Amino acid sequence: MIELRGIGKSYGSGRERITAIGSVDLTIGAGEFVSIVGPSGCGKSTILNMIAGFLPPTAGQIRVNGKPVVEGRVPEGLGYIFQKDTVLPWLDVAKNIGLGLRYRGRPKAEIDAKVTDLLNMAGLAGYGGLFPHQLSGGMRQRVSLLMTLACDPKVLLLDEPFGALDTHTKIVLHKELLEIWRRLGQTIVLVTHDLDEAITLSNRVVVLSSPPSRVALDHEVTIPHPRDVFSVRESDAFSRNFQAVWHVLGEEFRRNQAFDHVAHRSAA
Ligand code: ADP
Repeated sequence: MIELRGIGKSYGSGRERITAIGSVDLTIGAGEFVSIVGPSGCGKSTILNMIAGFLPPTAGQIRVNGKPVVEGRVPEGLGYIFQKDTVLPWLDVAKNIGLGLRYRGRPKAEIDAKVTDLLNMAGLAGYGGLFPHQLSGGMRQRVSLLMTLACDPKVLLLDEPFGALDTHTKIVLHKELLEIWRRLGQTIVLVTHDLDEAITLSNRVVVLSSPPSRVALDHEVTIPHPRDVFSVRESDAFSRNFQAVWHVLGEEFRRNQAFDHVAHRSAA
């Protein structure tokens, strides 16, 4: 469903040029749930932005559902969720969720039915008339997710969507996301700095190295589904998977710290 071939990305030019991504190859099959982790600045968000067509790679090619991604054109059937919720404060919850369908000119009856279904699925029946300022951060992020799901994406790109939430809210949303994924079977790519989250949710964890990044590890998470998000963290399988990824990720963090020191020394 998603193919990255020899992807490189540099920003700036001349002496200011930063090579964020050295060379990344990655193939993600339909219905997979893949997390991308790595030291800060290794290009995780850049990869999502390139898959979505927001940014062009400097080298290599990306395909989504077999078609090359073209800059400025979001691939068909692709949804993107950011760390900051994207709800519009002047619209109520139901209108926010139906917004994408309205832009597409869908009939009102179809939009209303879809919004009701989604509110029921997320346990938010009865909340459609509330405005964003009446909701908690977790609820607003849930509404953002429903706004994206309303357009039936086949591919979901999630950029640290739970990063700003407290642990309890985060775990409840993990549970909901896993249920949605089990029911709808989208291909999901999640960028996160939280290894617990990556292992709880995904089937594969890809570790990017410090910049210029490459794939340092592509780990299959050997925990069967359905997973109970509350108890899975206590299991031996969770600890084994965590250790296998941390062995590589921790080393990349250490390298990146050394890289930061050098960068700061030369700046000083
Ligand atoms: P991550 O998500 O892994 O923290 P990013 O993809 O945000 O990393 O950024 C990778 C590197 O590219 C960082 O060094 C960052 O400063 C740089 N970068 C990201 N976006 C831009 C931009 N628009 N212009 C210049 N440099 C950028």
